[in-house]
Amino acid sequence: MYNIKKIFSDCLPAIAVRGIIFLPGADVRIEVGREFSKAAVFEAESNRDGYVVLVFQRNPDILEPEFSDFVEVGILARISVKIKLPNGNFKIKFEPLTRVKLNDLITKDPFYLIDFTSMVLQPENLDEEKVLLKMVSKQVLENANFLFRDSKAVLNNMKGGISSDKLCDLVASELRIPENERIKYLITNSINKRLQYLLEDIEKEKNLQSIETKINETVRKSADQNQKEYYLREKMRAIQEELGDSKQDDTKKLREQIENSDMPKAVREKALKELRRYEYLAPTSSESSVVRTYLETLISIPWSKETEDESDINKAIAKLEASHYGLEKVKERIIEYLSVKMLTGKNPQTILCLSGPPGVGKTSLAKSIANALNREFVKTSLGGVHDEAEIRGHRRTYVGALPGRIINGMIKAKVVNPVFLVDEIDKLVMNERNDPSSAMLEVLDPEQNEFFSDHYVEEDYDLSKVLFITTANYLNNIPAPLRDRMEVIELSSYTEIEKFHIGKNFLVNKQVEGHGLKLSKFEITDGAIKAIINNYTREAGVRQLERLLGSIVRKSIKEILIKKADKVKITKDNLTDYLGKRIFKNNQISKKDMIGVVTGLAYTQAGGDTLEVEATYYEGKNKLVLTGNLGDVMKESAMAAVSFVRSNAKRLGIDPDILDSNDLHIHVPEGAIPKDGPSAGVTIATALVSVLAKRKVNRFVGMTGEITLNGRVLPIGGLKEKAIAASRSGLKEIVIPQENEKDVDDIPQEVRDKLKIHYATKLDDVLNIALVS
Ligand code: ADP
Repeated sequence: MYNIKKIFSDCLPAIAVRGIIFLPGADVRIEVGREFSKAAVFEAESNRDGYVVLVFQRNPDILEPEFSDFVEVGILARISVKIKLPNGNFKIKFEPLTRVKLNDLITKDPFYLIDFTSMVLQPENLDEEKVLLKMVSKQVLENANFLFRDSKAVLNNMKGGISSDKLCDLVASELRIPENERIKYLITNSINKRLQYLLEDIEKEKNLQSIETKINETVRKSADQNQKEYYLREKMRAIQEELGDSKQDDTKKLREQIENSDMPKAVREKALKELRRYEYLAPTSSESSVVRTYLETLISIPWSKETEDESDINKAIAKLEASHYGLEKVKERIIEYLSVKMLTGKNPQTILCLSGPPGVGKTSLAKSIANALNREFVKTSLGGVHDEAEIRGHRRTYVGALPGRIINGMIKAKVVNPVFLVDEIDKLVMNERNDPSSAMLEVLDPEQNEFFSDHYVEEDYDLSKVLFITTANYLNNIPAPLRDRMEVIELSSYTEIEKFHIGKNFLVNKQVEGHGLKLSKFEITDGAIKAIINNYTREAGVRQLERLLGSIVRKSIKEILIKKADKVKITKDNLTDYLGKRIFKNNQISKKDMIGVVTGLAYTQAGGDTLEVEATYYEGKNKLVLTGNLGDVMKESAMAAVSFVRSNAKRLGIDPDILDSNDLHIHVPEGAIPKDGPSAGVTIATALVSVLAKRKVNRFVGMTGEITLNGRVLPIGGLKEKAIAASRSGLKEIVIPQENEKDVDDIPQEVRDKLKIHYATKLDDVLNIALVS
């Protein structure tokens, strides 16, 4: 056994240590792998009581070091635990005892054998040692948290009191310094010198530490914000995961949709910005769903996708012809319009406006135009729209905001160049506060609609490729600036014969096929179609006719299924089985001529109509009483008629006394349809003359015309509609203003064949024809 207290010298097997420096007192575990080191271990265990010298290579890369490769001082140590590792190496725990000075390398084979002498400590100045020791202890205690690899071990060891020699080795072993710097603690034999080294190294370390802290601080500051966001986001994700919410997937999906969409760059950037905002919003917050709806809107709006137009005008014409019966003039104008479009490749400067009563085919014509051009078709109705926001959308700050009807239409179209039908443009409601027509002006103006702005979408939207078509029932109700933009094509009421052809050639097949019934299983006779038109409908167009045909087809299908019938045949005679009792009497004309009852012809929003004007008088104070559904203009007509009758009483054979001592009462029955327009003057005047002069009125005569105070008859509008209505209700003669003679050509021949037309310039002309006796 070596007495380490004494100076000694000897030879011992050596273990060459690489990359690390040990000092006495340290906890040393090393893996021994090189053959000569393993042999040294065997030798030490077998013959040297476990004692070895640990020698330290200056360069760890040298595999077979020479004596000069070793640090000149080594450590005398004893093997305390040895474990064999699966790879054949040994893991060995050494007990490092003391420093030894290496004198020579005796041999390298089979193990390194080192000749050494124990290292003698240099005598010291004790006062200096005390001061140094104090200083080192203070520094160690103050800075332990960052100085050492294992600060707890250092502090625990110091607690029990420790010699300066041991303190030096302990602190030097644990300091976080590079290994080659630790060599000086191994080789120096002066304690005071070692203590000074410690002070220096500690100071250096403190400096480094403060620089590190400073750097950390700046890095932390800049990282803080990101980190905070990161942290919050992670937290949110955790919460969402916990709640089973898959917002992440959702965001990913939205991002893909935005990236794959055809948005222009500016819009895409905006969408991505909103998407980032959406990511941070709590999924349950209302804000989150607002942003989501906005993003979905941006994604679903078509930004550049378009369909290819039909370029062959003949194909377009063929499609248009095939879709509608008659309407020659209308079709011709539409074809002109489309030709211009095809030739120039641009939308014509004016917008088409199809005007006419309901059910005459305005909507279906617009659809056929889309079909003829191979374009998508969308439709929005402006009936009852009184707020600009319905057209242009609400700002997003508004609760429940959505885009307006135009953008909504585009979303439905899915392409930027649909045929866009703006229905009932005459039904826009305007007041002082709100003028939706100005927004429509922007939409329909080819100069402006390239940059249409919807309040909700916020980004400009290009409507210039859209082919807008409008419809109206009543042209007069369209605001003038809007009407100026439009090329009006008028469609008028159908005659019975036209209705019959439309029914027979278009509507029957449409309904039968539309309901999925085979054409061979259904038959309707011409007589039945005519009976439906005359006995069950009273309309300008063919909507009701189409509806009734639909209802007949449904009942027939039921019959085929229940009664296992092969085929259903509808005739005039079995019609009541399907439609019930007839609703209208063929002939509305009363059975005999009457006093004070005159049939007028009116032009209503639903086409032409007849109206019975009644007049009577009873004792009173010369008042005029008006009842029934009369518009303002008609009241004025009544007053003018009364004035004329009063001033011409004598000539017309009216007793002036009757006029003086009675109230006059004028009534317009059938209050359901509002009637307006200045064309009832002659009718009211005729009724008054009839009742006051006690002369009967020819019940087969209908009339229309305005009168002046001195009895002149002024022209009217809607002659075609009125004439059709007159023949429909069974009248045989009509009296119209002379100035309307030029319009008679508009009346379909079949109507003219049934009606005798009289022209009037003065009321007397009218009275001559209408009054019987
Ligand atoms: P509007 O828009 O004028 O109120 P619609 O276009 O809705 O009328 O027409 C009503 C129905 O009548 C549609 O099914 C339409 O196809 C049909 N129709 C109208 N006119 C004709 C016509 N001339 N030829 C064939 N079908 C027609």
